[in-house]
Amino acid sequence: MKSEDETRRPQAPLRLVITGGAGFIGSHLAEDLLRDGHRVVVVDNLVTGKLDNIAPLRSDPRFEFIHHDVSNHLHVAGPVDWVLHLASPASPIDYLNLPIQTLKVGSLGTHNALGLARAKGAAFLLASTSEVYGDPAVHPQPETYWGHVNPIGPRGVYDEAKRFSEALTMAYHRQHGLDTRIVRIFNTYGPRMRAQDGRVVSSFIVQALTGEPLTIFGQGQQTRSFQFVSDLVRGLRLLMAHPVHDPVNIGNPEEFTIKAFAELVLRLSGSSSPLSFQPLPEDDPRQRRPDITRARELLGWEPGVRVEEGIRQTIAWYRRELDLAIAPDPT
Ligand code: NAD
Ligand code: UDP
Repeated sequence: MKSEDETRRPQAPLRLVITGGAGFIGSHLAEDLLRDGHRVVVVDNLVTGKLDNIAPLRSDPRFEFIHHDVSNHLHVAGPVDWVLHLASPASPIDYLNLPIQTLKVGSLGTHNALGLARAKGAAFLLASTSEVYGDPAVHPQPETYWGHVNPIGPRGVYDEAKRFSEALTMAYHRQHGLDTRIVRIFNTYGPRMRAQDGRVVSSFIVQALTGEPLTIFGQGQQTRSFQFVSDLVRGLRLLMAHPVHDPVNIGNPEEFTIKAFAELVLRLSGSSSPLSFQPLPEDDPRQRRPDITRARELLGWEPGVRVEEGIRQTIAWYRRELDLAIAPDPT
């Protein structure tokens, strides 16, 4: 006989609610789920997302969009099989500009999304982050590492919101028996990242393509590990299919110093933009690389897109976007 968790394994057609589904990652996830025949309800207040991201999905009768701030009570009519909670500012410049909204969506928004899942008898997935490890003293970071976060520093609004949202998710799992997943997402890039979102991948590519200096913060000796969005979406789908309630890291362990990454972007884009060294933001983590042993062993997941290949594809997408932006109006 199948366990309750097993019967929830995604079999078409399910009805899934994606909070933050008009954002970069959420729109890719929505597209992937619709492609497999599922029904998708995106709930988003568009604070950092864009209707353009979901424009191609809106003609699909299995797709619905609700314009709503999930930090306020969340109502979705009809049956729901999954609540995928991605709503949150995610880029450092966004959460530094929106500190209270970020804390609210991580706390009140997560509470509302969990409440919706519980009321509907749905399963729940939390999009958490490698930022829960803060400026890590352990490298690479396994899920068992508790982290090194400055709760009152500028990044604390994001890090602590996500840490609280993980604690609340585990509390709903333990107290109410909710079927939950927690994914700790490491730096993810790809088409649909906002050109001006300030993250390193979008910033460097746009700067390289427009001949502007690449803004390296500090000496560029800090490291990050970059995964292509299609690998993340595949990892999320696998995690949904496996009843793993402890957090799982999903990220590509290919690690770069920021300076080496700038040089890679220059080479792949054929740009001769100079490098410009700027002050390092407060509490910027010095190193980051996922230990993906758990994802490998429990989900059979590992990244398939090498950084060089993913960055080539992303550069090609930004070239088209920037060409469209400067193309003369045909009318
Ligand atoms: P994004 O900014 O493109 O998407 C976030 C979406 O959430 C946006 O559409 C925004 O409008 C929406 N949103 C924010 N607050 C909301 C609210 N109160 N109510 C309703 N909608 C709201 O960012 P993303 O990169 O797609 O990130 C998606 C999720 O993944 C976030 O939870 C983020 O913390 C997590 N994450 C992303 C990365 C990454 O590298 N991209 C890394 C770790 C974790
Ligand atoms: N960074 C940089 N120049 C930029 C943007 C970011 O050197 O124009 C650095 C930033 O200081 C950090 C790394 O790149 O060390 C990754 O920054 P991002 O904002 O993409 O994400 P984070 O991993 O810090 O959340």
